[in-house]
Amino acid sequence: MSEDYYELLGVSKGASGDEIKKGYRKMAKKYHPDRNAGDKEAEEKFKSINEAYEVLKDEKKRSIYDRYGKAGLDGSSGGGFSGGFGGFGGFDDLGDIFESVFGGGQRRKRENNDLSIEVQLSFKEAIFGTTKIQSYRYREPCKACKGTGSQDGKTTTCSTCNGVGEIRQQQGFMTFAQTCPSCHGEGTIIKNRCSACNGKTYIEVTDEVELNIPAGIDSDHRLRVQGKGHIGQSGNRGDLYITFSIKQDEHFTRHKDDIYLEIPVFFTQAILGDTIKIPALKGELELKLERGTRDKQQYLFRGEGVKNVKGYGKGNFVVQVKLIYPKKLNSEQEALLKKLQESFGVESKPHESILDKLKGLFS
Ligand SMILES: [Zn+2]
Ligand SMILES: [Zn+2]
Repeated sequence: MSEDYYELLGVSKGASGDEIKKGYRKMAKKYHPDRNAGDKEAEEKFKSINEAYEVLKDEKKRSIYDRYGKAGLDGSSGGGFSGGFGGFGGFDDLGDIFESVFGGGQRRKRENNDLSIEVQLSFKEAIFGTTKIQSYRYREPCKACKGTGSQDGKTTTCSTCNGVGEIRQQQGFMTFAQTCPSCHGEGTIIKNRCSACNGKTYIEVTDEVELNIPAGIDSDHRLRVQGKGHIGQSGNRGDLYITFSIKQDEHFTRHKDDIYLEIPVFFTQAILGDTIKIPALKGELELKLERGTRDKQQYLFRGEGVKNVKGYGKGNFVVQVKLIYPKKLNSEQEALLKKLQESFGVESKPHESILDKLKGLFS
């Protein structure tokens, strides 16, 4: 590779930073492996173009190159340049190229610094709201290696994928893309891992955040705490998203803003009717059982449910009757019930009218 870096990018020696960037984008597109499948020459050219841009976009490297040529940049000579060379630093620029050429960021993921954690809430906390100090962990770039993951700051372009992070395989007329197995999609290989972050490029920081959880929160809701997510290599900080795991109550059942409660009612209460006290979300409610209340009959208390998290009023409180019969009868109770049954006469034998109507229908 004896080509001149300026020539490779198609710019003049006095080119501005913008002209160099434009030149790089133009040439990288032209010689990109995806556009020149199987073309070895284009592949080499693409590598050289990236090498050239790596140097010319950096003022310090560029001035060394201008004065001493490539030899001045060659770290192995022990010369003044410590940062190493041969990396593939223009990822942001490449990302742009991928998007403009292939119409989507499916290659290299854009930096997403959002973080999501799940917070446990009791049934009561979700209904009435609460304030919680929640501890969580976010990522920030490792200071020891300046986020490179490399102990000596050196990274080399992955030779398997040419730094693209992905390899393409031709099967018949179909082309399949898969994450590069050598660099796991990073595009670069680190020989000496940073001991502070073990080559991960980031460290995890434990922090606390105060959460003001509004009344009526439900497990399908999500809270956003702005600027409390991960800190990316760019220095930008993402948001923290909170999802909720809410414990169920043994007695109250919640469905959105409505609350359901099953109340056992003794059969004589149901027959005679009664006014009873039942537990509500706050305090008690008075339930007027009508005479002849049936099993599974529901009574509705409007607006006694959960406060809507968005302020749309309150849900309902639904009470469902569970009819309870005596498990055993003593002789006195049995005698009383028999007497009661007799007192109803034919009304106590409703099956007989059915028997009369249907008798002989099919004979
Ligand atoms: Zn690779
Ligand atoms: Zn590190």
